[in-house]
Amino acid sequence: CGIVGYAGASSRVADHGALDVLIEGLRRLEYRGYDSAGVAVVADGAIHSRKKAGKLVNLENVIAEEPLPQSYTGIGHTRWATHGGPSDSNAHPHLADGGKLAMIHNGIIENFAGIKAQLVSEGAEFLSDTDTEVAAELLGKMYGEANGDLTLAMQLAVKHLEGAFTLLAVHQDHPGLVVAARRNSPLVLGLGDGENFLGSDVSGFIDFTRRAVELGQDQIVTITPDTHTITDFDGNPAEGKEFTVDWDAAS
Ligand code: GLU
Repeated sequence: CGIVGYAGASSRVADHGALDVLIEGLRRLEYRGYDSAGVAVVADGAIHSRKKAGKLVNLENVIAEEPLPQSYTGIGHTRWATHGGPSDSNAHPHLADGGKLAMIHNGIIENFAGIKAQLVSEGAEFLSDTDTEVAAELLGKMYGEANGDLTLAMQLAVKHLEGAFTLLAVHQDHPGLVVAARRNSPLVLGLGDGENFLGSDVSGFIDFTRRAVELGQDQIVTITPDTHTITDFDGNPAEGKEFTVDWDAAS
């Protein structure tokens, strides 16, 4: 029910890494309510993911037991279960492409059952009951068709999806890159200096920047530490509306 994404340049954001940003953002988003939490970071050419049913503190305990490597690229999620019970395995992120990519999702993919049947017939195996894992598998398939271009893969994947979704994905071959798509579900971009952020609302990154960009309907946004690129679902350039978050971060 809450989403945070982060891409930072290690040399320029010395006082925090991806995990600090993700946990702090998820804590700020706690008011939305949720039943599990999870994160995935890209480090050393691999995806590292931790997720746990229950409160954020449960996830923090898992991470304390099994620490994550230092990273400056990641995604974080708190889930409000709609498809599949509130278990560890149904918690996000969901991995695909042989564990090389991780996806988080807010919302509902209405037509997931048909896509799942198709992917299963092609040999895909699913570890959860969620609609989200279907979108993750689909993105993995499209990643192949897009010759390893994660943004293009997202464009190809969302064309098949109906419903309401904010999707964020990272891939082990693309440190420093987070791709997001939104339809009928909220997503805000946060602009930093040598780092950029994504959030289901501004509280996901309010501790780190006040410069925000409101995204439009049916848009895809790709962030790196120094760039953000917004397009429509067909890849045509699009624009968001920049604004300054003026409420009190201490509240
Ligand atoms: N439909 C997805 C699930 O049940 C995402 C729910 C959410 O918005 O947190 O896992």
